[in-house]
Amino acid sequence: MPTNQFDIAIIGAGAAGLHLALAMRNDAFFDTKNILILEKDAKEANDRTWCFWEKGAGKWDHLLLKSWSKGDFFGKTNHRPLDLLPYRYKMLRGADFYRFAKSELAAAPNFTWVNDEISAVENLSIKGKAGSYEADLVFDSRLPSAISNLQFPSSNNSLLQHFKGWYVRTPEPRFDAERFTMMDYRIRWQDTSSFTYVLPINEREALVEFTLFNDRLIAQQDYDSMLRQYFDKVLNIKDFQILEEEYGVIPMTDYRFDKHSTGNHIRIGTAGGWMKGSSGYTFKNCERYSQRIVENMKARRPANEGVFSPKFHFYDSIFLGVLHHQNSLGPGVFEEMYAKNKVQDIFAFLDNESSFGTDLSIILKFKKWPFIQSFFRLLSKNIGHAPRH
Ligand SMILES: Cc1cc2nc3c(=O)[nH]c(=O)nc-3n(C[C@H](O)[C@H](O)[C@H](O)COP(=O)(O)OP(=O)(O)OC[C@H]3O[C@@H](n4cnc5c(N)ncnc54)[C@H](O)[C@@H]3O)c2cc1C
Repeated sequence: MPTNQFDIAIIGAGAAGLHLALAMRNDAFFDTKNILILEKDAKEANDRTWCFWEKGAGKWDHLLLKSWSKGDFFGKTNHRPLDLLPYRYKMLRGADFYRFAKSELAAAPNFTWVNDEISAVENLSIKGKAGSYEADLVFDSRLPSAISNLQFPSSNNSLLQHFKGWYVRTPEPRFDAERFTMMDYRIRWQDTSSFTYVLPINEREALVEFTLFNDRLIAQQDYDSMLRQYFDKVLNIKDFQILEEEYGVIPMTDYRFDKHSTGNHIRIGTAGGWMKGSSGYTFKNCERYSQRIVENMKARRPANEGVFSPKFHFYDSIFLGVLHHQNSLGPGVFEEMYAKNKVQDIFAFLDNESSFGTDLSIILKFKKWPFIQSFFRLLSKNIGHAPRH
């Protein structure tokens, strides 16, 4: 085999690329495959912190910074304590995941890691700044150029989830390290669906993030001012040191990313639509869908089969339609969701793992009218887009 010819290429060693590579590394079926990883960055910086939930012990427990079995949800006026068991809410620093994945893959002789920025993939021929590569199957975590600026067609229900966080240290013990705050709507940016969450590592250190689900980014000093208000008015903490900052923008949309995948060139991660449209959570899906791809390949099914769920895409569309068209309803919608349902059912629902009975019981507890409106908007769009004969 020529040196630039591989069985499988994975473009991007972020959450999706590394989950997929590790899933292949851990399955003997792939021992005879030559696998190329193409990544433009060094993947050494802690460029993000992932939170996710899972039942009991999980694959990444040895890398976690912290996990909790208890938390809180604060609506505009109500408070709901959350007892998560058998789930735990887990926090993992990106840098720790990258370091672990890189050392695992370096020890595998059939994996080749090349630092290169890829500009194009045409007929399974991959062009980078440093070289060209060929592979029989390409997994690609670059966003398709049509949506690389996160601008989606107006026919989709789309929002941006954007957030800024401060990792802080206080001179005195000020946090309860046994509880995290899932969402706190007591401080909001104007009339938007916006909230803060708090992830305490110990009594003096926590990551506190202000998050918006809407269609417009705000200035950096506005995120800062919201964080300051939260420290001042809600946490009542005046004295703290900012050790690290985190900023991110991720899409929340019902856009069909999978239409950019073909049989042998498959988009993965955010670029493959692996984030949950209505929540933005992606990390656990990267693990889940990577395993699905591995099982599909072993069974000689199309690699992407079963990754897209029409049922949950439909629910996400309706939910996003409410937030997209009536953004100020966001706090009330989440308040209802956490007040009227068991957190375990909410997690299963957000994981696309709930039964139809649980789905229905969650859906029927929402105030119906905004969701009925969203349903009919979706219906009229789909009728409008139906093929004409
Ligand atoms: C700050 C932040 C915090 C987040 N927190 C959470 C969370 O708590 N929980 C959760 O579930 N989700 C979270 N997300 C959402 C989601 O989990 C992440 O965005 C996740 O990293 C997406 O995985 P990915 O592989 O698609 O993209 P990335 O992890 O961004 O990986 C893409 C990789 O491709 C590389 N790349 C891009 N273009 C090229 C190119 N042309 N050539 C070569 N390499 C290229 C990049 O350098 C990068 O390494 C967060 C996102 C951000 C930005």
